[in-house]
Amino acid sequence: MPRGAERAAAAARAPMSVVLDGKAIAEGIKQRLQRELAAMRQRPTLGILSFQTSASDIYRRAQSAQAASLGIATREHAASPQASQADVERVIESWNQDAAVHGIFVHQPMPPQVDPQRISAAIDPAKDIEGIHPQNSARRFFAKARIGSCTALAVMELIESTGVDLTGREAVVVGHSEIVGRPVSMLLLDKLATTTVCHVGTDKAGLLEAHVRRADVLVVAAGRPRLIQGAWIKPGAIVIDVGINVVGGHVVGDVEFEAAKARAGFITPVPGGVGPVTVMMVMKNTVEAFKLQQASA
Ligand code: NAD
Repeated sequence: MPRGAERAAAAARAPMSVVLDGKAIAEGIKQRLQRELAAMRQRPTLGILSFQTSASDIYRRAQSAQAASLGIATREHAASPQASQADVERVIESWNQDAAVHGIFVHQPMPPQVDPQRISAAIDPAKDIEGIHPQNSARRFFAKARIGSCTALAVMELIESTGVDLTGREAVVVGHSEIVGRPVSMLLLDKLATTTVCHVGTDKAGLLEAHVRRADVLVVAAGRPRLIQGAWIKPGAIVIDVGINVVGGHVVGDVEFEAAKARAGFITPVPGGVGPVTVMMVMKNTVEAFKLQQASA
């Protein structure tokens, strides 16, 4: 029996849930990337543009560290929180024009004077490793993505590690952002899951609990600590917690972990779940963008 199917069968038999180990899954992807990079004559370069605010700093540092350990070069630009739209677009344009830069990643959140949609459109679609340029978003809409959202791909990788077939399953995504909720929901649709997207409006209408209770697969990306109560989890469900919140100096997700773990079939911890897999997807997408550029050169 394949490893994933064995784990699915074990979870169905036992009431105990399986905690999905994001670090181990990321390590498996890293080993495959190392083999691929060893066979390449030239190494890719990743441009990382962040803002001098602490919100995404853990993520940025993890990207730099993993790139260094894989031999992927980086160009890093930390923009001032006062940087204008034009200042940020100038950095992106210089990387667009530089044939030695193969991937571009721009951190969120951006300061209020910078429009994230205009930034997405400013990135060369061939170097857009987050899949946010309108051309790449359109490709995802038609299930023809060449390079997709790193977080959404990480979520799917974790779900696939369970070995559960999603066909006809009830999938509920909490969060409808352009970088997480929407791309995740499209990838779930591609797997033929019956997909519901919940958001702040669902909660305001008092309907969040009812949707969550019927989820065979629950993906939560709201950025609200303990938004999802453990008692709402359908027994045996797959629970993927994307949320990153700092509460009392500790990083926690959007799901009440211990109570949810008592009911779920599979659950991701925070930290150590989606985060490490997302960072590795940034590396994988940089390599993919590099290969596409080499093939079209
Ligand atoms: P966002 O602020 O752009 O979107 C939040 C979404 O949650 C919106 O769709 C909003 O409608 C919904 N929401 C907010 N409050 C809600 C409520 N009370 N009930 C139901 N829905 C609600 O955020 P984002 O960029 O999508 O990120 C979401 C979370 O995921 C954040 O905590 C972020 O730090 C985290 N994140 C983690 C990773 C990772 O790799 N682990 C990657 C990206 C984002």
